[in-house]
Amino acid sequence: MARVRIWPDKWLTKIATPVPFGEKCRALIEAMYASMDYPDGIGLSATQIGEDKRIIVIQVPAVKNGRNVSGCTKVTIINPEIFWGRGSMVIRPEGCLSFPGAQVMVPRWPRIKVRGFDVRWNPITIGGKGLVARVLQHEIDHLNGITLDHYVRLALERGFNPIKENVNEHSQ
Ligand SMILES: [Zn+2]
Repeated sequence: MARVRIWPDKWLTKIATPVPFGEKCRALIEAMYASMDYPDGIGLSATQIGEDKRIIVIQVPAVKNGRNVSGCTKVTIINPEIFWGRGSMVIRPEGCLSFPGAQVMVPRWPRIKVRGFDVRWNPITIGGKGLVARVLQHEIDHLNGITLDHYVRLALERGFNPIKENVNEHSQ
């Protein structure tokens, strides 16, 4: 398990480097799942634990026909890239493991598709909607050095306060 970096740690503004094809990442990915601390945490990027690699992991409660069911959905993507997004942006509160206790209203695509590689370097395409889509976008933001403070600044420029109090969401 690794220490999750807390804002304003310099790792959180780092633009992560693509992982060379074929590089072994299994140990790092296991450390990322351990550091995410599910179910309090539902997603993590490698830069959040001080690794300069474009890798994200997410783990969210499983949903079937719009209802939570037992178990969880895990997604690991090396060198993820969003190549498709659809629908009107949805604004909802988001937490982040690097901003303990904070909840910020963030606009996200409701449906996206992401491509990249799995842990065995097979090419994969992940279609996400709802919470999965939101967490994927949050983690890919991390790889680009973008964190919740960015959305706070954007909202304040547009004249509204995006910081939510007394909401209990997961962190990513
Ligand atoms: Zn985060």
